[in-house]
Amino acid sequence: TKWVYTFAKGKAEGRADMKELLGGKGANLAEMSSLGIPVPAGFTMTTEVCTHFYDNDRTYPQDLEEQVLTALAEIEVHMDAKFGDAKAPLLVSVRSGARASMPGMMDTVLNLGLNDETVEGLAQQSGDTRFAYDSYRRFIQMYSDVVLGVDHYIFEELLEYYKDEKDYSLDTDLTGEDWKSLCDQYKEKVLEEMDEDFPQDPKVQLWGAVGAVFKSWMNARANTYRILHNIPAEWGTAVNIQAMVFGNMGEDCATGVCFTRNPSTGDKHFYGEYLINAQGEDVVAGIRTPQPLTIYEKEESGSKLPSMEEVMPKTFAELVTYRNKLEAHYKDMQDMEFTIQKDTLWMLQTRVGKRTTKAALKMAVDMCEEGLITKEEAVMRLDPHSLDQLLHPTLDPDAPRDVISRALPASPGAATGRIVFSAEDAEKWVKRKEEVILVRTETSPEDIGGMHVAEGILTTRGGMTSHAAVVARGMGTPCVSGAGDMRVDYKARTLTSFDGKVLAEGDVITLDGSNGEVILGTVPTIQPELSGDFAKLMHWADDIRELGVRTNAETPSDAEMARKLGAEGIGLCRTEHMFFEHARINYVREMILADDERKRREALGHILPFQRQDFEELFQIMEGLPLTIRLLDPPLHEFLPHSEHDMEEVAKIANMSVEGVKERAAELAEQNPMLGHRGCRLGITYPEIYEMQTRAIFEAACKVTKAGGKPVMPEIMIPLVAMNAELERLKVVVQNTAKEVCEAEGLEIDYMVGTMIELPRACLRAGEIAQAAEFFSFGTNDLTQTTYGLSRDDAGRFLRVYQEKGVINVDPFVSIDQDGVGELVQMGAERGRQTRPDIKLGICGEHGGDPASVAFCHKIGLSYVSCSPYRVPIARLAAAQAAL
Ligand code: PEP
Ligand code: MG
Repeated sequence: TKWVYTFAKGKAEGRADMKELLGGKGANLAEMSSLGIPVPAGFTMTTEVCTHFYDNDRTYPQDLEEQVLTALAEIEVHMDAKFGDAKAPLLVSVRSGARASMPGMMDTVLNLGLNDETVEGLAQQSGDTRFAYDSYRRFIQMYSDVVLGVDHYIFEELLEYYKDEKDYSLDTDLTGEDWKSLCDQYKEKVLEEMDEDFPQDPKVQLWGAVGAVFKSWMNARANTYRILHNIPAEWGTAVNIQAMVFGNMGEDCATGVCFTRNPSTGDKHFYGEYLINAQGEDVVAGIRTPQPLTIYEKEESGSKLPSMEEVMPKTFAELVTYRNKLEAHYKDMQDMEFTIQKDTLWMLQTRVGKRTTKAALKMAVDMCEEGLITKEEAVMRLDPHSLDQLLHPTLDPDAPRDVISRALPASPGAATGRIVFSAEDAEKWVKRKEEVILVRTETSPEDIGGMHVAEGILTTRGGMTSHAAVVARGMGTPCVSGAGDMRVDYKARTLTSFDGKVLAEGDVITLDGSNGEVILGTVPTIQPELSGDFAKLMHWADDIRELGVRTNAETPSDAEMARKLGAEGIGLCRTEHMFFEHARINYVREMILADDERKRREALGHILPFQRQDFEELFQIMEGLPLTIRLLDPPLHEFLPHSEHDMEEVAKIANMSVEGVKERAAELAEQNPMLGHRGCRLGITYPEIYEMQTRAIFEAACKVTKAGGKPVMPEIMIPLVAMNAELERLKVVVQNTAKEVCEAEGLEIDYMVGTMIELPRACLRAGEIAQAAEFFSFGTNDLTQTTYGLSRDDAGRFLRVYQEKGVINVDPFVSIDQDGVGELVQMGAERGRQTRPDIKLGICGEHGGDPASVAFCHKIGLSYVSCSPYRVPIARLAAAQAAL
């Protein structure tokens, strides 16, 4: 088996499309090398080695060592250096690299190959003893921490102590001799802690580091990250071993991170940060505040630090050519790492960059218009779920703001919450339903849990590519980073602003992640912009998709919003929701409590005008688009009066005694309201209810028609049908009433009568039901409930445990259970079509706005999905992606 893939000087054994085997980093290093971009020579140990490692009691395949030694010898030739050589030592980095990027979750070892002898060689070669011993102490510290398990703070303490003794304040005050004696102290400490010398043999070091990287695949942080991002543990990680290049050999050296376009806004400007005389991890770790890459960025951010474009114009120009080459090659925004060693530029990594949803949208549209990608590719570039972020309100720019700091706009969006100072507290507070802003000097991978639940993140150190910034952008959480004029005091749990304002844990602040402002208290918000790029991409999606997208709405404001968001009709108007309003609910209660038809008709008489008015407004808003109106389906317990006060009010309206109301309510109470006297069962027992609703619909339809509106298209829908006989009876009620109204008004109104398919029996008998039904709408909420025998109201209590224990991956009420519930839907659709080939088939359960479920609906050939207004764009995009 081939376990090792080499790359160097314009050649490589791997390719970008070999991510499964080589991991993302390894595959892209190979690709860059083949493109002729300078990457330090190296090789990748495949993910199959990782699998072998875990399957065989943490041992390696037999022929691995030989392959590694051969590959290492190749690097030696390219670099004109030898592993372990006292004069010209080869030093390497050992890094993880999984298929999916897992920033900061696994281990890395740099400067490997240094020992008491080679460090002298490095000093001679570089002509810099200080640099050589600084590198050695970094290596001892990193290796001991990662491989030997000696905590890194032990070394930091030694360093601090040493600085105190010598009266140094900065690391840069230390001389070569200082670092040398610290190296000795570090090694002694290792001996003391481990009872074993720090390994001097570079080959021992190498296998130690490789083992540590493979083991870090299963560390706690990596496990959490994998669960959060759905990365299977079986994938394993690759290990990349590469010749070291140094960004910390002097003022003609640097290291940086850059993006081919701005990952936060999507603007087509080369964007990044760099540090002079620094090692790679210094930028990401947020220890020093990095400098802007370009003059443009410097001016935009008002930074006073000189840009790379000014300081190193030649190398910058070379970097720009790689930027252009890589973006054109990958046809997507790249996130790159580079190091400059003595004016020579080396590319260390490229990958498709993480971006905010706003940036993803802008880049997709721009790249399509630039001719880089097709409309279809542009439509595939956005995760439908993420659209949610674009649809949410932003801070009102005209509202007053008490700005207490201006820092980097690291991840856009507005967030308001109470200050907490640790990830742990964030999780605790959120559990008790508080909204929090996580405030840290900087974040690290251990903070992931807290970052995930926080509304927003504020850090006082670190740049746009710091851990906090990258992770927040990935999560879509607003973040302001590098607020250097604020001080965090973890002990006192306070945050102090530059002018001395002291904020305590629990105080409310607002972050504007789009301009980097930190604001005291809350700020009013405004609705999002739906034109521009958003409209364009949605339009492309609409051209591609085959599924229709409607909305579930019953109020005029929801219906209006849904139309703005692109709904092509109403797929479900839940009429019982029209009665939730206080002034109306008592009339509904009166109707429910009525114990004979006369009283019921009297109550219905009170309701009719409201209903007519509601439908009139909906017809007007929908301007001739289809409108599916579902006749009453109230789980009775939602409507019965519960409090004493409610009982008194209904008693008055219904002309009953409070005692009478109580008795009647007790009589009507159900053991299993979700399976009780609801839906068409109510229509069968009290047809006058559906009669009134039908009357309201047709009177409204006639009125709107007479007023010269577009022809209305009501689709009357009967809920919870299990048997054809139910539907047939109720269809007659609807038809008779419609006829009566239309004749009286002297108008003809086109309409359809159809049914919800939301019970297993209805799916089974769909062929028969389709004789009466002109359309089906799958109610997958109830269908999931009844197929699983899971109560919609109670399942939340234990489904979470099911998820935690891995019994199920997703909540079947959130994403349709394609195997079970889905099969019933498919069967219902097929049987319905057999009877009535042109039957209209939709879905109106919550699943209508879930991308995976939308894809399923496309696959089985439904006509449309219907979902809540804010999910309409999600469904439009998901439907387009399903069609590609
Ligand atoms: C359903 O059951 O899927 C449905 C849409 O109806 P409701 O949620 O109102 O029961
Ligand atoms: Mg239902």
